[in-house]
This record gives sequence, structure tokens and C-alpha cells, in this order.
Amino acid sequence: MSYYFTNDESLKSEVKKISVKINNLPFSFYTDNGVFSKKGLDFGTRTLLESLTDIKGNVLDIGCGYGPIGIYIAKTFKTVVDMVDINKRSLDLSLKNAKLNDRFSHAYLLSGSSGIPLIDYAIFVAKSILCENGDPLACLNCLTCLRIEENNYADLIVIDGSKEKIKKQHIDEIERTFVKTALENKGKMIYILHLVENATPIALNSLLKFLEEPNQNVYAILTTYNENKVLPTILSRTQILHLSAIPRNDVINNAINNGVSNEDAELLSSIYNDDVNLKDFSLSETYKKIKNLLLEFLEELGGNKAYASFVLSKKIVSQIRSYEQVSVFIDLLLDFIYNLMLKKIKQEIILKSYVKIINGLEMAIPNPQQTFLKILEAKRSIDVNINIPLLFDHLLYII
Ligand SMILES: [Zn+2]
Repeated sequence: MSYYFTNDESLKSEVKKISVKINNLPFSFYTDNGVFSKKGLDFGTRTLLESLTDIKGNVLDIGCGYGPIGIYIAKTFKTVVDMVDINKRSLDLSLKNAKLNDRFSHAYLLSGSSGIPLIDYAIFVAKSILCENGDPLACLNCLTCLRIEENNYADLIVIDGSKEKIKKQHIDEIERTFVKTALENKGKMIYILHLVENATPIALNSLLKFLEEPNQNVYAILTTYNENKVLPTILSRTQILHLSAIPRNDVINNAINNGVSNEDAELLSSIYNDDVNLKDFSLSETYKKIKNLLLEFLEELGGNKAYASFVLSKKIVSQIRSYEQVSVFIDLLLDFIYNLMLKKIKQEIILKSYVKIINGLEMAIPNPQQTFLKILEAKRSIDVNINIPLLFDHLLYII
């Protein structure tokens, strides 16, 4: 049985195009089997969208499906929307629909865990932008698609960070090439930086400046296996597409079969998409320390909020000392709030071993979606030079 929230590649594909009006604005969407609400815009989504009056700041579309909510919000409120979905077909569709509704972003970050062929996917996005038939994604058969496949298209530059460090010279070279007009008749120029986490700090600086001055004809496609290592300033300038090959429940089951406890498998499946790395990290002292501190904080938060503040500002600040540790702490914290959101919309939670803590949090965090977005925003603002006590003060204020 396939559900829209599972990643069933074997399900027969039957793409349909639907046209809908939302608040009298026309939108077209491609939908497919295995995607939620495939026959048309469902009543709930329509009601939600038509009741939105204003949205400021960044938006996170969890379970974006074929993308109607994210695309509507991006187009209507001119804001940045992160579309997150575990279903590869949904991601293809949301990309298609972005193009169809003229919301193709000029900078994408494809984020996925190891094992996902991100560079192939990045090249597919490039083909989709340039394809002669583009209906709306790449046909893979036209001369342009074939030339890209053969690495033979003049206005596409691919820098592969898995083979060499991405250096400032690479970025400068791209800039120098792309200030000129495009060589090919399409007029569009694309660069792919595969594994942007493997760029030197100086290269990242140049990249940031380049991303800040978007050129109508230039498209950036970045990829990463480790979003925690990508500068938040880069994250905030790109449309992030999360690609997850393995459904989270499978990661959890694989990890449990591999000897990890249910508790750790559930918790760490929010960070790792493969049971091997998950198991390694579950055995580390760093993880045990962060987990204990986080659980103590959350347990107190459900009961004595003042004491929870104390735990956070004294114990946690004195023991969590690096940028990496802060990132893990925040990711795990976000996952608890994510589960709280699931509970609120009466969906099955993932952190089943922590049901007591999650129940306890319901009173303390009455609007988990709001809290989630604020923490996500705080996470975006952190970098290697982070002032940790200040960040935790801010977190306390948010929660
Ligand atoms: Zn083509």
C-alpha cells in the first residue's frame, strides 16, 4: 500500500495537469499518483490559502507534496519558502510546478544524505532549465539535454567538490565567464557547485557576493550532503530542496536491526539518513551528553518552566561548546517540536519512545509551528563564530 508520505518509486506514474484558481489567481499544477490531493486542490488546502492575509519572513512547507502551498505563498507574498518532502516524486512535481508558475528559483540547494546521487539530480535541474522541449522538466532526448549529458554545453559550469576543494579561483572563473553574454542561444547560464560544504571559506565569501547580486540569466545549483556545514547565509539565499531516499521509518528500523536502541534510532533519524553513520554517532560521548541535556530541559519545560530556563542557561551553556554541538542540539530540539506539530494535527508521531515528553510539551508550547519556524530562523543565523550563551538566551525567549 502506498501513501503520499511514503517514497514508493514502484508506484505507476500518471502525471495529470490541473488548473485551479486560488483567490482568483490562476495556478497550474502537475500531480501524480502517490501524491496527496492529486485530483485537485483539496478543500482544506484551499481554505487555508484563501484565508492567508499576509506572511512575513521565511516559510517552511512541511510535506510540500506537489507544492501548491509553498508556490502560492512564494508567489503571493514574495517570500522565501523551503519545501520539504520525503517523497522524490513530490519533489520532481514541486520543481515542475515552480517552473510552470514561473517561480523557478535562481539559486537552488539540493540537500540530501549520502548515497543520493545529488550531482545527477543537479544536472537534471540544469537540463530542465535549458531543455528544448521542457515539458516542463527535461526531456533527456533533445540535443541540449544530450550535450549537457556529454558535458558539452558552453554555458554550464560544473565544479565537483567531491573531487577537489572548491576554491576562490573557481568562483572567480564562473563570475568572469558569466559577466559576458551567454554563448548558447538559450541565453541562460548555469553553474553547479557539487558539495558546497567542500568550499574554502574564501571561496564561500566570493560565492555569497555572487549570490547577492542575482543576474536574470544566471542560475546557481548547489548540493550538499551536510546542510549543517553550509553557511546559514547561503541557506537563506537559496531555495532548499531536501532529497531523502530512505523513508525515516526505514532508517529507524534499519538502525534498530543494527543494534541501536529504539530511543536513539528515533531521535537520530532526524539527523542521519543511513543507519551506519547513525549508529556511529549514537555511540559517541558528544551525543550522549547532548541527548541527556536536551531531555532534561524538555522534561522540565513540560513542568517547571523556570527550572527549565535554569537548566538551559546554566547547565547547557556550560557543557555545549562548539558550533557542531549547538547544531545537533537544535536539530534534535526541532524534531521534538516537529513531533508536537504531528500530534496536533493528529498524525502518528515518530518519536514514539518520547511520548511522555511530547505530551508534557503541549501546554508549554501552544503554537508549535510558530516556535518551529522561529527556532529554524535562529538556526539560520548561527555560524562558526556563534556566541553560544547569547543563542541559548534567544532560544529561551522564543520557547
Ligand atoms: Zn531536452
